Amino acid sequence: MVRLFDLLESYDYGELHLSREGASDMHAVVAVHDTRLGPAIGGCRFLAYDDEREAIVDALRLARGMTYKAALAGLPHGGAKAVVLRPQKLFDRAALFRAFGRFVDKLGGRYITAEDSGTGLDDMEVIRSVTRHVVGTGGGSGDPSPFTALGVRRGIEACVKLKLGRESLEGVHVAVQGVGHVGYYLCRELDAEGARLTVADIDPLKAERAMREFGANVVPIDRIFDVACDVLAPCALGSALNDETIPRIRALIVAGAANNQLAQPGHGDDVHARGILYAPDYAINAGGLINVALELTGYEEQAARARTLQVYDTIYEIAERSRRTLTPTYRVADLIVEERLAKAGSAAGARGTGVAGRGAP
Ligand code: NAD
Repeated sequence: MVRLFDLLESYDYGELHLSREGASDMHAVVAVHDTRLGPAIGGCRFLAYDDEREAIVDALRLARGMTYKAALAGLPHGGAKAVVLRPQKLFDRAALFRAFGRFVDKLGGRYITAEDSGTGLDDMEVIRSVTRHVVGTGGGSGDPSPFTALGVRRGIEACVKLKLGRESLEGVHVAVQGVGHVGYYLCRELDAEGARLTVADIDPLKAERAMREFGANVVPIDRIFDVACDVLAPCALGSALNDETIPRIRALIVAGAANNQLAQPGHGDDVHARGILYAPDYAINAGGLINVALELTGYEEQAARARTLQVYDTIYEIAERSRRTLTPTYRVADLIVEERLAKAGSAAGARGTGVAGRGAP
């Protein structure tokens, strides 16, 4: 049995929306984590789940991360996530996403949807036909990866300044794990700044492309953590920082695009104890979110670039405060967010607007 209220309590939530439309076989979950800073934004996953509980837990887990990412990026948004359960039998995709769009519309702008695993531009276009509360459609902000990479490069620059006392990336050695969408653009950014690159990817063609285009040294995927370098940039899967990999790291800085790099929060304490400066993932990889969120106020590429460049300041502030207070960076990032949310909550309270916090109506 799915014990819904116990689940909400364990994830510190109050607001979860469920919708079903029989005709299109649409079963969807929208978890709204926090709206103190503004309407909640977050992608829509479209995956097959073994059971409903798993789908709900996925939405709850990911929505909270969106609150933190948006707040730290200084965006006027809270965090949310949607999960649409992929039907087990044949289905009409357009009808299903139209039904999901109507569900989003009924939430009246509390939730703004976007692409995520299993959804694409075409689905967002279908959703757009029934609601305006969607970003990441054709004619909008386009591929977020170059913006994510730009932000990561800026975050690396901030770490290099603080940890190595260097003003530029000229000659700085960066080992990049995964040269897919973001990893490739990151290599391009770093190469343009004169950095030296070592890369690894399970897809040899992608690694070879980085070698060809940027003169990167290629190593086998199981050697990337052993590379003696200045910066390790995880840009592949989650949980890159774990019991097995941390003791092998020979870089002074870990700063990359991958989500959920810490296998467990305690691994953030481990890297800190080893004197490694870790740029919290949700702080350094916010460029894509910044880019897409700007669609809501009229998208301009220059403005998106300018906002993304500010990832430097965010990472610098976190790293500097971590050094001053001897607190691991992942905790400092969380603290900054919690301070911002508390301030927004009390400002709303003082205005008597009753802006919803975690799950207020
Ligand atoms: P992607 O799938 O295009 O790239 C990932 C790359 O990692 C692929 O080339 C894959 O072959 C490689 N890879 C997988 N396992 C590997 C391993 N064990 N060792 C080395 N390489 C491996 O994905 P992406 O869009 O570039 O995203 C990369 C990471 O950044 C993900 O964690 C994603 O959640 C995160 N992220 C992406 C964006 C964005 O704008 N795309 C924004 C924020 C966060």
